[in-house]
Amino acid sequence: MAGGKRVAVVRCGSYDREEVEGAVAQALSLLGGLGSFVSPGQRVLVKPNLLLGATPEKCVTTHPEVVRAVARMLRDLGCQVVIADSPGAGTLYTEGSLRKAYALAGWDRAAEELGVGLNLGTGYQEVPHPEGRKVRRFLIIDPAKEADAIVVVSKAKTHVLTTMTGGVKNLFGVMPSIEKPAMHARFRSVEDFSEMLLDLNQLMRPRLQVMDAVVGMEGDGPHTGDPRRIGAILASDDPSALDSVAARIMSLDPMEVGTLAAAAKRGLIREDCADVEVLGEPLEGLVVKDFKRPRTKSREKGFGQSRLASVALSMVKAYSLKPKVDQGRCTGCGSCVRVCPQGTVRLSRGRARIDSGRCIRCYCCHEMCESRAISLQRSPAGRALARMVERRSDRGKGD
Ligand code: SF4
Ligand code: SF4
Repeated sequence: MAGGKRVAVVRCGSYDREEVEGAVAQALSLLGGLGSFVSPGQRVLVKPNLLLGATPEKCVTTHPEVVRAVARMLRDLGCQVVIADSPGAGTLYTEGSLRKAYALAGWDRAAEELGVGLNLGTGYQEVPHPEGRKVRRFLIIDPAKEADAIVVVSKAKTHVLTTMTGGVKNLFGVMPSIEKPAMHARFRSVEDFSEMLLDLNQLMRPRLQVMDAVVGMEGDGPHTGDPRRIGAILASDDPSALDSVAARIMSLDPMEVGTLAAAAKRGLIREDCADVEVLGEPLEGLVVKDFKRPRTKSREKGFGQSRLASVALSMVKAYSLKPKVDQGRCTGCGSCVRVCPQGTVRLSRGRARIDSGRCIRCYCCHEMCESRAISLQRSPAGRALARMVERRSDRGKGD
């Protein structure tokens, strides 16, 4: 191991309060203790994953017991703690939507019990970032801009766009909701979007990362996937190192994850992740071998073993999954209209309709639909190609 990137991994089999508090404390102790990262008296933002707000058993949000354990340790150290996130793009950044999302996620009770802050303000500021490679100015919500230190408390989930969301992607939430579609519109490819996220991490420099990987999300995350038991709490001061370890536990090749591939290009992590040292629990016993990938990424790797097939894949737009509205489930709430960076979704007779010709496959609408009315589907030609891909991939496995 070289490079000093350390990731602490501690087993945690449930969301029982004592077990979570013990696991978080042990993970931070392996890294030298909480006091190595923050000091008494500092204003510390605890930044979990809120997305739309959802009840904890859905595994969309960071579990309140993990948020609570981290906030409690910070409070006991003497920090001024504020818990905050900006919900996903289709949600308005208002006090009402924050209250509703926090209550669903169970963070309001955690904050009240501990006597720590829960941000209900909706202010944000423009922050210059002259060193940014893609972005030289970001809009940042007040509690993040005003914090002396940020502690990210992420959730281990798959992601239909970036393959996985963890520590690096979590910081997207320090931007106000209204800015997020603009970022998707500017950075349409996974590579560019990931570069933007790395710029944001470089600007905000979170001090510490804790990841809730007790029960993660598999399949079509970050919203409509399924809960999957992993059984661990992870911690690190390096977001890419943290994500690389989480990816391995979720049976993903770290370089399939957009943010990790971009980090490797910048020299922030080695492609083989050999510069990451795992402290605590050996990974072998934690890897979930059949962890379900997002369907948007499900067979590309196997298909990519054939160069011809790979070229065909890149040429056939039909292969990629397209968002489709289930008119029976759609409530006409308009979230997908607000979030779409292309202006491709409109409401007609109280139901959403997508102009798929202009769709850039960012999947924000799928991510933000609370009614699960947007599914991801292929055209008939795409389905035929997908079957071919699966046959090739299965044959490859038998070789
Ligand atoms: S598909 Fe319908 S229910 Fe879903 S976000 Fe769009 S308008 Fe709302
Ligand atoms: S319709 Fe297409 S471009 Fe618009 S949010 Fe959905 S996936 Fe993105």
